[in-house]
Amino acid sequence: MATPIGNLADFGLRAQATLRGVEAVAAEDTRVTRRLLAHYGIAKRLIPVHEHNERRAVDSILALLRDGRSVALTCDAGTPAISDPGALLVAAARAAGFQVTPVPGPNAAIAALSVSGFGAPHHLFYGFLPARAAARRRALAGLAHLPYILVFYEAPHRVEECVSDLREVLGEKRRIVIARELTKLFESVHACTLAEAADWLAADPLRRKGEFVLIVEGAAETTAAEDAGQRALEALLGELPLRRAVDLAARITGGKKNELYRLALELRKGMGNRE
Ligand code: SAM
Repeated sequence: MATPIGNLADFGLRAQATLRGVEAVAAEDTRVTRRLLAHYGIAKRLIPVHEHNERRAVDSILALLRDGRSVALTCDAGTPAISDPGALLVAAARAAGFQVTPVPGPNAAIAALSVSGFGAPHHLFYGFLPARAAARRRALAGLAHLPYILVFYEAPHRVEECVSDLREVLGEKRRIVIARELTKLFESVHACTLAEAADWLAADPLRRKGEFVLIVEGAAETTAAEDAGQRALEALLGELPLRRAVDLAARITGGKKNELYRLALELRKGMGNRE
């Protein structure tokens, strides 16, 4: 079940009733969930289920379920199993034949997306990028051509380097929304271009504190299609006659043959120049 991402008042009636009704709560951090329970005057047995013990905890929770008891699953903030532990327990419970029911509620990514103002119909929730710069840039290179809004979680001590890599790999023109401390006292939602984001963060140490969701515009549709066509042609032209390469590139990417043909002629010229 989902729990608040900051503001304890964001905890629905069904979520409260569920907590009151279960025998036990499997909690990522029992101290955090105990605070939530105390806020609503609920006392329950708490079972720790975090990334280091999830496998072991699953067995004891399945034993409770077999005993006819009901168990709620919470993480520290937001929805379990979304960049948080929980998926293993959910899968094991379902595989053992128990009903697993979502109790929906807060999620930082969706909250940020809803105030991003980006109207594109599709988004890709990525979660945390790799912590190391080289791996992060590789991951971003794999996302650079996608025509989807990109949604990232980021830790405060990495937000500046992350924003700098976003600019370097995705280009400085795309817009970013930096959603910080959502639902909390110092909530801020700032929209700018990737060219401006680093300066905005640097201008005030408070802007680099707290919890972040970064939302970045996707590649323009035409750019994504053109890039796919170009990548296909670059691979095929080295192996096949021009017309055959264009035919295949059109089938692979869904691109227009006449445009791919023009592009192939240019690429071939470039290749000729290199030889
Ligand atoms: N399961 C959670 C959910 O449903 O949103 C996400 C858990 S993940 C371990 C924690 C990350 O979510 C934080 O590092 C931050 O990127 C994002 N996050 C959580 N609460 C937030 C908030 N109030 N404002 C902005 N981002 C938040």
